[in-house]
Amino acid sequence: MSSSLQQELIAAIRNIADYPKPGIMFRDITTLLGNPRAFRRAIDELVHPFAGTKIDKVAGIEARGFIMGGAMAHQMSAGFVPIRKKGKLPHDTVSIAYSLEYGVDEMEMHRDAIKPGEKVVLVDDLIATGGTAEGATKLLQQMGADIVAACFIIDLPELGGRKKLEALGVEVRTLISFDGH
Ligand code: AMP
Repeated sequence: MSSSLQQELIAAIRNIADYPKPGIMFRDITTLLGNPRAFRRAIDELVHPFAGTKIDKVAGIEARGFIMGGAMAHQMSAGFVPIRKKGKLPHDTVSIAYSLEYGVDEMEMHRDAIKPGEKVVLVDDLIATGGTAEGATKLLQQMGADIVAACFIIDLPELGGRKKLEALGVEVRTLISFDGH
């Protein structure tokens, strides 16, 4: 990926210090989504590695993973599967607890959303500690998904999320990275 595209994406992201709490630099992608060229280029770059590979489903993590995942699924002629916070999905679900910085939460997907052996790309906007994506990975793997890759616009490498997913045998693709939290 060209460094000029990386610079363009970095410039399109808004950085908000001390949100949602002191010491966190929030990487706000709403400005990237609102920028037609940056949004298109980010999605093009994320789907590019899968050209020529049949992807059955894109699984997006609520909520920003829905926006990116919908665009990616459309471009790859794949289906879209939402991975949601507990209690939001109307039909039979499977759920998994995952660790947050403080405590645990649960995420769910519909039991019939993935057939065993389907090729799935997992997507969210950002990977930090990897707790969220690790939960989603385990949920998909439990349902027999073949996770081809997990994709994120932003990596915070100091927090080690990539290594967590790689330990589960999942290839991780990110477009840009920032130092710190
Ligand atoms: P983690 O489970 O620690 O990898 O956190 C990833 C999830 O939290 C993703 O859904 C991100 O959208 C969100 N997140 C974590 N840290 C940040 C940050 N610095 N800026 C924006 N979103 C973040």
